[in-house]
Amino acid sequence: MRCATAHLSTGGSRRAILLVALDTAVLSTTIATLVRRFQSIRQPGETMRLARPLNMIALVAVLVGHGILLVALLVGVHAAFSQSSTAVEPIQPEEVAPGVFVFPSHNATEEVVDGNSTFIIGSKAVLVVDAPSMRLTRQHLAWLRRRTSLPVRYLVNTHFHLDHVSGNQILADAFPGLSILASEYTKRIGDRRLPALIAAAGRPGGTDSTIERAKRLVATGRDEEGKELAPFEAERIRRAVAYLTRELPDRKLRRYVGPTEIVGSERRIDLGGRTVCVRNYPGHTLGDIVAIVEDAGVLITGDLVVSPVPYGTGNTVFRQWSASLRALEALPRINTIVPGHGGVMRSWDYVRLEREAIDSLTAQVNAAVREGLTFEETKARVNMSRFRDLFAGSDPDRRLAFDNYFLGIRRAFDEASGLVD
Ligand SMILES: [Zn+2]
Repeated sequence: MRCATAHLSTGGSRRAILLVALDTAVLSTTIATLVRRFQSIRQPGETMRLARPLNMIALVAVLVGHGILLVALLVGVHAAFSQSSTAVEPIQPEEVAPGVFVFPSHNATEEVVDGNSTFIIGSKAVLVVDAPSMRLTRQHLAWLRRRTSLPVRYLVNTHFHLDHVSGNQILADAFPGLSILASEYTKRIGDRRLPALIAAAGRPGGTDSTIERAKRLVATGRDEEGKELAPFEAERIRRAVAYLTRELPDRKLRRYVGPTEIVGSERRIDLGGRTVCVRNYPGHTLGDIVAIVEDAGVLITGDLVVSPVPYGTGNTVFRQWSASLRALEALPRINTIVPGHGGVMRSWDYVRLEREAIDSLTAQVNAAVREGLTFEETKARVNMSRFRDLFAGSDPDRRLAFDNYFLGIRRAFDEASGLVD
C-alpha cells in the first residue's frame, strides 16, 4: 500500500555586512556568487528600487554544489554570557496529534535560524524528523527521556542544511544503531561538503571570528562598508551575536554524522501501531523528503514550507518546488502541516500562498527570459511587492527575511535560462 495518492517522481543593491567563509575551498568562487545573489535578492519589485539597501547578512550561506547551504554565518555583540553547552533547559513540545510532538522554532526570520523537530512515538520505537542544533536536540532528548523509555530508531533528515542536521550526533550517540534516513542527494551532498564546513566553523577563525566581527559592527553602528545600521538591523545583529555566543561551545564539539540509509522514492516505517511514510518531494533542494504520519493526518514538510516567509536558496529548483507543493496539497486526509520552520498549520492556506508566490516569481522571470532580458533587466522588472506585503506586512525583520531568504531572482533566472537541471 502506498502512503499517499499523489506522487512526484524525484526527479538594488543588497549589501553584505559580513560574509564568513566557513569553507574556503568551497567558497573560493562562492563569495562573489553570494554577493551577487544577495544583491539580486534585494529587490522584489519595488524592493529592487529601495533607496537604501538593508544591511546585514547574517544569514547563513555557503555554496555547496548546486547552491547555497544555510549555515550560520553572522555576527555580534555581547559575548559576555556564554553558557555551558551541556546545560539542558526545560522545553515543551506541542502535541499536534496523539503521540506526535513538535518542537517549533520561532526564529525563522532571524540571521541564524533553527529548523523544527518532530517526534513520533509508536508502540515499539520513536522516529524523529530533523535535529536542528546540538543544544536543541539535547533538550528534545531530555524531554523524550521523561516521556518514554522507547528508543529513537529512526531519524529523518528532510534535507542537508545544517539547521536541520546539526543535532544528528546527539541522537546517534544516544541510540547506537540509529537509522538516519535521507535522500540520495542529501547524503551525497552532505557527505561531500558538511565535514569541512563543520570543522571550519569550530576552528579558531570560524564562528568565533564571526562573533568578533559582528560585535564590531554593533559597537560602531555601521556595517563593513561604513553605512549606518538601522536600529532594527543593529538589534538583529545583537541577537545573532547572542545566539552564536551561546552556540560557540557546541560548534567546537560538533562533528558530521551523516545519513546511514537512502530513501528512494518512498519508504514506509513501522513504529508499532503506526506507520510513517517518507517520500521525495524536491524543490527547496533537489533532495527534500517529507514524512507523513498516516493515522494522524500529519504532514512534516521540511523547508518546502517555511513560515512566516518561505525559504528559497541556491539549492532551490523553483519549478519542482511548485510542483511538489501542488502534489502535497493533493495528499488525502492531511489535517496538520508541520513546516520546516515556524508554527504548525491546520489548513493549506499558507501553502497555497507560498506556491502562488513561487509561481508568480517564476512566471515573471520566465517571461523576461523569453523576451531576451538580461539578468539586471529581469531583476528590475520583477515585482513581488504584493507577496512581500502578504507575507511580511510592515514588520522590518520579516520584510528583510522575505527579500533575503525567498527571492532568489538569480536562481530563478538561471533556471529559466536552462542553466539549472
Ligand atoms: Zn533548508
